[in-house]
Amino acid sequence: MSENERIELAEILFPNIKNNCDYYEKMYPERDLKEGAMVTRYGPSPTGSVHLGNLYSAFCDMVYARQSKGIFFLRIEDTDQKREVEGGIDNIVSVLKGFNIAPTEGYSIGGSYGTYRQSERAEIYQTYVKELIRKGYAYPCFMKEEEIASIREEQEINKVRTGIYGIYAADRDLSLDEVKDKLSKGEEYVIRLKSPGDYNKSVEIIDLIKGKIKFPENDEDFVLLKKNGIPTYHFAHAIDDHLMHTTHVIRGDEWVSSVPKHVQLFEVLGFERPEYAHIAPITIKDSETGAIRKLSKRKDPWAGAKYYEESGIPFDALHLYLATITNTNFEEWYLNNSDKSIEDFTFSFDKMAVGGTSFDEAKLNNICKTYFSRKSGEEVYNETLDYAKKFDEEYALLLSNNKEDMIRFLNIEKDGDRPRKDIAKYSDVREEFSYAIDELFVKENYSKLESDKKYDLDLVKEYINELDLSLNNEDWFNGIKEFASLHGYAASPKDYKKNPEQYKGHVGDICEALRVVITGRCKSPDLLSIMKILGKDKINERIKLYEGYIGK
Ligand code: GLU
Repeated sequence: MSENERIELAEILFPNIKNNCDYYEKMYPERDLKEGAMVTRYGPSPTGSVHLGNLYSAFCDMVYARQSKGIFFLRIEDTDQKREVEGGIDNIVSVLKGFNIAPTEGYSIGGSYGTYRQSERAEIYQTYVKELIRKGYAYPCFMKEEEIASIREEQEINKVRTGIYGIYAADRDLSLDEVKDKLSKGEEYVIRLKSPGDYNKSVEIIDLIKGKIKFPENDEDFVLLKKNGIPTYHFAHAIDDHLMHTTHVIRGDEWVSSVPKHVQLFEVLGFERPEYAHIAPITIKDSETGAIRKLSKRKDPWAGAKYYEESGIPFDALHLYLATITNTNFEEWYLNNSDKSIEDFTFSFDKMAVGGTSFDEAKLNNICKTYFSRKSGEEVYNETLDYAKKFDEEYALLLSNNKEDMIRFLNIEKDGDRPRKDIAKYSDVREEFSYAIDELFVKENYSKLESDKKYDLDLVKEYINELDLSLNNEDWFNGIKEFASLHGYAASPKDYKKNPEQYKGHVGDICEALRVVITGRCKSPDLLSIMKILGKDKINERIKLYEGYIGK
């Protein structure tokens, strides 16, 4: 086709597109940012629930933009409307907000480079396609699905690459009259790239994580605009990341194989290419087969963002965990700088794991426990209350009605170099401190005790009767040892071990009996502190409750 014919064709196909590309280039000018500022974006497709891998890539976008004083924006990539899930977009926005992985611009926030929802940008994509048609880099393709399927079959039989390229691109060189003829018959079409590539030549890019990668050039006439005028991912990526001035495309490495397509698109469109950083997926060792595999929503509860929300993993702790998987040197840095925040660390692409990061539940747990151990009782109380208001209303009400005592309980064993490390998530508080709220204790009391060991309740009663709750820790401990000796128990486990036949047990057994009766648990923070907060009346009520329980 001559240039004039192409111009005519572009007009026939897109009569309603009146603006030219320049219009959009002016509308979305260069960003006014300082040298080195990164513009990153998170581009989710609203096709289902958000998973840990999504949070991970959005986290990367956030930290790189933040540390370079750049921009992190959110773009909804909803070009595949068949796969869109109802409520999917709202869910993405609310998950990002809930985990404090906060874009500074974009969908639901605003900014000068919108709209940030691809399905609303059809006119922009069509303007650029129209220009490519004029230049001879795109053409309408009328091939039917059956034709494409049979080409594929033939290619598979002949063991050649599948796809629409070279001789298989049947409509690549249609004349203007042929196109007009098909249009007059109402034949449906897509717009394909007229690829200038040569598969025997290679294209090379430096991926910021994977390093140098080399591929054969793209020679596929892949689809730019679908029948409905909506672009494919490839085309939308090139147009949007150009117009929104993305400097760094950080995305899952399932897109690596599309790089030759993208490189070519940026070339034919005359756009400067952004940097690419392809992140390897989060993997896990399968508990049954031992094989390393991708996290699976079906098999691994922690694969979905919902798990973190519902079980109450604090977002700061999740950020710490994501930071450890983002950069291999973060963990050590944090160990030596535990008073600092993530924002004080400088992330770099060359410290990102090339081959994938494996999910480590124990590490996540430990990070979470450290997080809680550093918070005051009041902070834990407030955060747990916020969590409970969303996920456990009954508990939220109980917490509100027992605020002062609850904070005192949560403050036990917080001082000193080794603060208590028993809580890993907000939902643990109800369980770990089940003795702290009387209404809850009366209701659930001993139902979760795993052992049915019998305790000497008379001894417990006698001890409580004599107990002076104003004692300090040391005097209390000496007192209970003395009480143990007077009642035929060894004053220390060591003494007991030497001559077990001489004793009924040792002081630890008395403490265990007290703990079980008073808290309904075999493990608890410092018992004296608990008893002081509860007071004798409540302790005595619990002894009666326990008598009732074992009497059952
Ligand atoms: N919408 C794409 C996806 O959900 C995003 C890929 C990208 O970030 O470029 O996989």
